[in-house]
Amino acid sequence: MNNDDLAYIDENLRIIRERCAEAKEKYRSPGDKVRIMAVTKTVAPEAVNHAVKLGIDLLGENRVQEYLSKADLYDKSAEVQFIGHLQTNKVKYIINTVSMIQSVDSLKLGQEISRLAVKNGRVMDILCEVNIGGEDSKSGIAPSGLKELISGLSELEGVRIRGLMTIPPPSDSDIFLGRMKELYDSISSEYSGMDILSMGMTHDYAEAIRYGSTLVRVGTGLFGARDYSK
Ligand SMILES: *Cc1c(COP(=O)(O)O)cnc(C)c1O
Repeated sequence: MNNDDLAYIDENLRIIRERCAEAKEKYRSPGDKVRIMAVTKTVAPEAVNHAVKLGIDLLGENRVQEYLSKADLYDKSAEVQFIGHLQTNKVKYIINTVSMIQSVDSLKLGQEISRLAVKNGRVMDILCEVNIGGEDSKSGIAPSGLKELISGLSELEGVRIRGLMTIPPPSDSDIFLGRMKELYDSISSEYSGMDILSMGMTHDYAEAIRYGSTLVRVGTGLFGARDYSK
């Protein structure tokens, strides 16, 4: 893979930055910050590093095994956060290499992160993943269970709850993005230290910025369609 093969990433990123800036300008306060995360599932490390060279400073990983197989090849100047469904018995593989786990949806998972964070002498930033559309196919805590989960997580040592993450249903996503904003506003006024609302993917990141997202997670729009055969 040479840099000519990777030039489409330059153009994709230019478009993403432009659309984010437009949405911010239109819907948000001038001082608001929205971070762009590059979602790297199935993407070759060369392409990931190319994005980092273009100024991407945050990578999102979905799968523990895939991440472990690529981590050594990544440019270390970007921060890595975990965004995929995480089994309790895999926390140990990522506890010292990611800066945040965005997909916490049970107290049991939070307790294991806490145990390993304390053991490793660190504090792990976490987000609670909310299944805002109530879809069976998706992980995440139901909105009705969120307060109880956060109350439990807030008692744990070694974890810091920084906010919420969601993947809304693909249709009517603005209704669900709006509900997430309400949920986030209410919960972040109750608990101090929350400053991240992670929502918005390739098809809805501009809309998500409209509804208060502080972190958009873009894969396909940056790197192209995924090839799952690899
Ligand atoms: C794959 C994925 C994304 C990015 O999705 P695209 O539609 O490719 O932009 C964002 N968040 C999570 C949790 C993902 O699994």
